[in-house]
Amino acid sequence: MDVPEHLGHHEAAEELPLVTESAVVTAVEAMDRNRTADIENAVGRILDRNDASDWYRDPGRGADEGLRSERVDWDDLVGRATDAGFPDDDVDALADLAVRFQRPYPSLLRVRVRLDDDVDLSFAPGQYATVTFDGHPRPYSIASSPTADELEFCIRRVPGGRLTTDIFQYLDVGDEVTIRGPNGEMVLGAPSTRDLVFLATGTGVAPFASMIDYVYATDRHVVDGHERDVWLFLGAAYEDDLAYREAFRDYDRERDGFHFVPTLTRERRLTDWRGETEYVQRVLLKYVDDDAVDASALPARLAAYASADPAFDVDARIDPGNVDVYACGITAMVDQLVDATRAVGVPAERTQFEGFG
Ligand SMILES: Cc1cc2nc3c(=O)[nH]c(=O)nc-3n(C[C@H](O)[C@H](O)[C@H](O)COP(=O)(O)OP(=O)(O)OC[C@H]3O[C@@H](n4cnc5c(N)ncnc54)[C@H](O)[C@@H]3O)c2cc1C
Repeated sequence: MDVPEHLGHHEAAEELPLVTESAVVTAVEAMDRNRTADIENAVGRILDRNDASDWYRDPGRGADEGLRSERVDWDDLVGRATDAGFPDDDVDALADLAVRFQRPYPSLLRVRVRLDDDVDLSFAPGQYATVTFDGHPRPYSIASSPTADELEFCIRRVPGGRLTTDIFQYLDVGDEVTIRGPNGEMVLGAPSTRDLVFLATGTGVAPFASMIDYVYATDRHVVDGHERDVWLFLGAAYEDDLAYREAFRDYDRERDGFHFVPTLTRERRLTDWRGETEYVQRVLLKYVDDDAVDASALPARLAAYASADPAFDVDARIDPGNVDVYACGITAMVDQLVDATRAVGVPAERTQFEGFG
């Protein structure tokens, strides 16, 4: 599956029509959390069950007293656990926790900007704009609905990245950024009676935040008197990596037809997360109507998931013949998402997708 990668995006970024050189930043807010305490507790539990309670704890502190992360040698931890004969699962968990501990906080931001009244930016939900700050232009999906007063972007820190390093270090309320665009072909289709299925990993959810807000703000969830189901499958490592999680949970609570299915590959390292933990394309299979899919025709890597029980109790199922599907995220993941939708029988012309590269 060839996902459009927008080769030359960065080169093209400066070529897009100029919207304004003075969009004023009105909010810069962390969406992830500082999870040092969770990490300390998780590492402490692993050490305790491997008779290593005394590692990194202050002398005299009991095993049930939290360990202090500043005493941990994170580069040494995994090697030391391996040498001490910890089970593979525990060694893997410590490796993940060391990475998470060393991740700078914050690493996920929502950035809102206000355009002057005389500035016109007409965009379709799903499109992106080019944001320039400190001389670096980069494309970002617009996460706000066209019906909102301000533009919003959801931005993940890329270690060593030129623009994101500057944004996370310096961008502040009152700063001005340049906006160009809009651009992008993955846009919300015309209203139909088909259900909507959004598949995203990480900040790939940004264009879908725009589409979902727009669908409900303009009542596009009801077509010819029929209420369409709207599904959002969102994959991330940890719970606080889910951008807009509270807004999606609110929709899920308040709207019978909205189904939010987050899937978290590493959250169980930190908490007793009871939700989905597999990759999005596998989780999707669990919520597809069994009667609509010939499981024996699915690729072996997916077949097992078609009959697996979902972790969330959702009183609806997906009919692959009656959906419009949108997929977005890192290009390699989007390839797999799109392959899974084809495998369950979603027609190619009902699938739109975009890779962030
Ligand atoms: C259509 C489109 C929409 C996008 N929308 C969003 C969005 O809504 N939110 C968002 O956070 N990003 C989005 N991106 C990615 C964004 O444009 C930048 O590429 C990203 O923020 C990194 O910019 P940088 O200047 O910090 O890194 P650069 O200096 O450009 O890159 C540094 C290195 O990191 C690699 N890299 C770039 N992006 C990533 C990544 N996401 N993960 C891991 N490695 C990476 C590069 O290949 C390079 O090797 C989008 C990209 C496209 C093409």
